[in-house]
Amino acid sequence: MTNQHIIGDIKFLDRNTPKLPLKKIRQIALDLYNLSGNFKPLKSERDQNYHIQTKSGENYVLKLSNQDEEPGVIDFQLKALTHIKEQDPTLLVPRVLSTKEGTFFGMAKSSDGTEHIVHVLTYLPGIILYEAKQTKILWKNRGAFLARLDISLRGFFHPHARHQLLWDITRCTDLRPHTIHIPDTAARKNIERIFGHMASDALPKLKTLRHQVIHNDTDVMNSLTDPKQPDIITGVLDFGDMIYAPLILEPILAADMPMIHKNNYIEFLSALIAGYDSILPLEEKEIDLVYDLTLARYAIFATIIAWRRAMSPDQPAYLPEEEKPCWETISNFMAIKRSTVRDALRKACCYPPYCPTEKENDIEDDTDILLERRHQLMGAGAPLFYKRPIHVERGRGPWLYDVQGNAYIDAYNNVPVVGHCHPHVVKAVSRQIAALNLNTRYIYQNILDYAERLTTLLPDHLSVCFFVNSGSEANDIAWQMSKFITGEKGALVMENAYHGITEATEALSPYELNSKLAPHVQTLISPDPYRGPYKDKNDDLINLYAADTDRAIADMAKSGHKPSAFMIDASFISNGIPDVPDGYLSKVVDKVRNAGGLVIADEIQAGFGRLGTDMWGCNVHGIIPDFVTIGKPVGNGYPLGVVITSPEILNAYVDKTELFSTFGGNPVACAAGMAVLDVIENENLMANAYTIGNYLRNGIRALMDRHTLIGDVRGRGLIVGVELVKNRETKEPATEETKRMLDLMKDNGVLVGSEGPYGNVIKIRPPLVFREEHADILIKALDRSLKSL
Ligand code: PMP
Repeated sequence: MTNQHIIGDIKFLDRNTPKLPLKKIRQIALDLYNLSGNFKPLKSERDQNYHIQTKSGENYVLKLSNQDEEPGVIDFQLKALTHIKEQDPTLLVPRVLSTKEGTFFGMAKSSDGTEHIVHVLTYLPGIILYEAKQTKILWKNRGAFLARLDISLRGFFHPHARHQLLWDITRCTDLRPHTIHIPDTAARKNIERIFGHMASDALPKLKTLRHQVIHNDTDVMNSLTDPKQPDIITGVLDFGDMIYAPLILEPILAADMPMIHKNNYIEFLSALIAGYDSILPLEEKEIDLVYDLTLARYAIFATIIAWRRAMSPDQPAYLPEEEKPCWETISNFMAIKRSTVRDALRKACCYPPYCPTEKENDIEDDTDILLERRHQLMGAGAPLFYKRPIHVERGRGPWLYDVQGNAYIDAYNNVPVVGHCHPHVVKAVSRQIAALNLNTRYIYQNILDYAERLTTLLPDHLSVCFFVNSGSEANDIAWQMSKFITGEKGALVMENAYHGITEATEALSPYELNSKLAPHVQTLISPDPYRGPYKDKNDDLINLYAADTDRAIADMAKSGHKPSAFMIDASFISNGIPDVPDGYLSKVVDKVRNAGGLVIADEIQAGFGRLGTDMWGCNVHGIIPDFVTIGKPVGNGYPLGVVITSPEILNAYVDKTELFSTFGGNPVACAAGMAVLDVIENENLMANAYTIGNYLRNGIRALMDRHTLIGDVRGRGLIVGVELVKNRETKEPATEETKRMLDLMKDNGVLVGSEGPYGNVIKIRPPLVFREEHADILIKALDRSLKSL
């Protein structure tokens, strides 16, 4: 906006109101519209307006525009009103009355020959909100009404939609030269600060937000209510400031803060914004700008008032009754923190807390307060990682961000297998939950589509799914089925195995057990060529380790049991990620089968391509199980667990037990599962796990020359184990050092875990979207952390 235009606009607003005699106005109404009746003048700053009541009781507003009014701008407004009527006939906005000739507006000449545009609208009943009691429910309803209005305007455009407007918040910085007219220095500085922040921060952000034609002036003077139902908005008037602008400006212009006591600012603003959001969901970035835009609105107002006074000292003050409340609003609003308003609005719209960037250092850290609440609400013993826990706020790909905007490479969490908050999964889940979420006792296609897609990834006989909600449940159900089918109760698991938290799976999890193993459970020695009893590469490691199966089956028999199932996590993660010799597992499986046992492949860690060469750990080790159980990564964080088995097994068991899980396999879970498979396929993540896993191991091995603490580096795909030892000869586990390393790594911006029977193996198990650049950061952090240990 140029100064020239602003000066033109000032003239337009202050001095040019047409003043045609009533007789002439009556004639115009008759000539153009065939309208006659009772004419009552209406207040207007720039036009000459009359309320006309016809003999038959119809009510209209005749508007005779200022001579400087552009016909295109009037055409824009009238076409918008017609568009709204077509899109949402129940929205009460003035209707356009056509002239006798069928046009939207006519022209009339004053006695001096000046031409004026004339148009007529229907007169809306009700009282203006300025005269109504301001309540939160009214403000909520206002927000909702405006959202409907904006939805109705969504597809509308006009060549004059971007006309120049002095009050246009997107151009507020054009007013900066005019703040000199504000006499009070402190007040002027405040306004300069507001415009300064708009220029450097808010306006660039605003440019990236949704724009459309909006009303842009639905304040309490332009909104109507019904005195009989004072919480309802019955209509809005005066489309004269309509403009193509950021959508968020619509509720901003409705937020008449001077009408509200300063103690209630946040509640009323929240009601308005939440009301809008309930009909037309707002984006986070829009909500986060409400504070600055509200201030900018009043800063514009204050500047224009001061400027006008300075330009026309001999004329009456412009909007004198609104000046004081405007200044009060500015100072009251500035006394509230931006973050307080932002957090309240986010909460009102069900958005999670704001996550700052690293550059913003004015964010308060409330971690200690939350820690205290956590102790009280979740018990002091609820486990937390790190000496100083991380107060996380957001995740994206392999990154996590804390409440202060610090970024961490997440090399620990395997649940977000395709990366934190992958947009494809987010979209699939949100869209499905917006459509339907129900249990599987009804027919719904996406459940079948998912089951079909999943089973085609597995051997032919594993063709039916039983859906549950977690890995533990999946293992529990597979174990129940196995006992039912075999009629036996004996279980074989690896030493230090972990399979879940239910009573049955906990019994199969020596990793977790503080007590002795139950008599029906036998463990196999971990096939660990680095630390296990058999190390020499020349030995027949496969047979030496596999022989322990015979021993376990024999020991089981001593307590009167025969094997029902061997449950195996083919990543061997809780064993410390040993380099299991190829062929070992198939030897064990042969022995189990010979003893009548079934095989449950717990793919909760190894599945979904993590090992780099196959979707499933059982395939990597060449075994064919009777059950595959999946969990954790399956829904990228949306709870889901699946038991996949043969129809014979499943049908036999379900016939007997009528097994059913309420949440298991609901449409949202299946949408998540499907989206995960899409991403793994589309982004080629299994191959990435292979390549980056090797890259990572090689990079870490290269550190072994400098850091003797690293005893061994191993793993497959993107499960990497780094075993720390005090002495490479004795292999004494560096357990304490590993513990400290986790905190040091965190301080260096990388999250990893520890594993193994001695807790001395650094566990690196990132989302599969881990790329070379992330691996480089990890390797550097490891180097630095080992140095500072
Ligand atoms: N099996 C394995 C191999 C696991 O790693 C886990 C979880 N760590 C489970 C089962 C249990 O899964 P959930 O925590 O989803 O019950």
